[in-house]
Amino acid sequence: MRNVIGAVCINCGVQYEAGDTTYTCKQCGGVLDIQYDYGYIKSRLNRETLAARKDFSMWRYLELLPIEEGSRLTPLRIGGSPLYRAEKLGEHLGLKKLYIKDDGLNPTGSLKDRASAIAVVRAAHAGMHTVACSSTGNAASSLAGNAAAMGLESFIFVPERAPKGKVAQLMIFGAHVISVKGNYEDTFRLSAEAIEKWGWYNRNAAINPYLSEGKKTVSLEIAEQLGFKAPDYVAVSVGDGCTIAGVWKGFKDLYAIGLIDALPRLISVQAKGCCPINRAIETNRPLEPMEENTLADSIAVGVPRNGEKALRAIRESQGLTITVSDDEILTAMRLLGATSGVFGEPAGVTGTAGIKKAVEQHLIPAEAVVVSLVTGNGLKDTASAQCAAGEPLHIPPDLGILIAELDRT
Ligand SMILES: *Cc1c(COP(=O)(O)O)cnc(C)c1O
Ligand SMILES: [Zn+2]
Repeated sequence: MRNVIGAVCINCGVQYEAGDTTYTCKQCGGVLDIQYDYGYIKSRLNRETLAARKDFSMWRYLELLPIEEGSRLTPLRIGGSPLYRAEKLGEHLGLKKLYIKDDGLNPTGSLKDRASAIAVVRAAHAGMHTVACSSTGNAASSLAGNAAAMGLESFIFVPERAPKGKVAQLMIFGAHVISVKGNYEDTFRLSAEAIEKWGWYNRNAAINPYLSEGKKTVSLEIAEQLGFKAPDYVAVSVGDGCTIAGVWKGFKDLYAIGLIDALPRLISVQAKGCCPINRAIETNRPLEPMEENTLADSIAVGVPRNGEKALRAIRESQGLTITVSDDEILTAMRLLGATSGVFGEPAGVTGTAGIKKAVEQHLIPAEAVVVSLVTGNGLKDTASAQCAAGEPLHIPPDLGILIAELDRT
């Protein structure tokens, strides 16, 4: 990879060469961060070369991705999701320039596809036939779908709490699914042991430093869609921390190659029932495990595996932390749908709930350019959507009764 210099441990700063296949630091066990040769990339990825490219998938930014030359890329169209100007929602919240980046429109319905694409392309290039991960759901369905598209086998470990829709997706994609009686932490540990035992390609985002590189493409798109400008704020729902770290990396990369001249502030949004990352920021103390009490299953991560990367991203960006209740998440789901026609799952709309609260608390000004990252599709978890939206009008097939009912309400 001519564009990649190597990797650096975010804890102790030890450097690793590009060819090294380590996932975590051999010295301290810390998470690694991929480093690029920005001088080289700058000459190949700029406004002119981008203007000439007709590929609007995440591979549009290949020079900024850790993909070996000559790799076979996934046939699925990942990335290139729309950035909508959300005028009505903005009016509602008191923001003049609010945007929605709808990543629920990815092939398997979540932003995780951006990471899984990197995993399957790298696994296939390395000649591996099986990929594996543990997940609360979306990383799993995403890996299973992308593996199917690449002709790879997948082994997926899910906690028993994972919503039925997500597990159904895994089964349809032909994955070997192992539902673990335990929480996410137990599931993660078992998957790590199995991956070690059978030598599968490891898609666990926390361990594999290449995956947040895929997630960062969402920021590359946002900046390009805004005419090579960074927004003032980007709100991200946070579980393991890999997404928010990737979002930050994307903007920093663009800044490093001169495509944007300012960086956004991140808004880290977590659920009240499970907010170890926000709590660490707010108390300025090391991460401490928390229970996983939220209906936003995709961000119910009591022991965040990418916590350090996330904390660093939030601090470096002078970010905000906002913690929202499950009720606030359900309200945001209904509000987003009714004002914008965008349907997000609970964790998908948690960022929107955070923006609403941040405006109410006067933490972001009305003129700010704000992006709400919708990370997952609402059809993944219709049970929660029913909690948010309630029941329809139930009547017999009789126009008279319909008229009477509509007059009444
Ligand atoms: C995984 C996920 C997140 C959070 O990403 P992390 O890397 O775990 O912080 C947010 N929303 C959805 C829909 C997700 O699937
Ligand atoms: Zn280290």
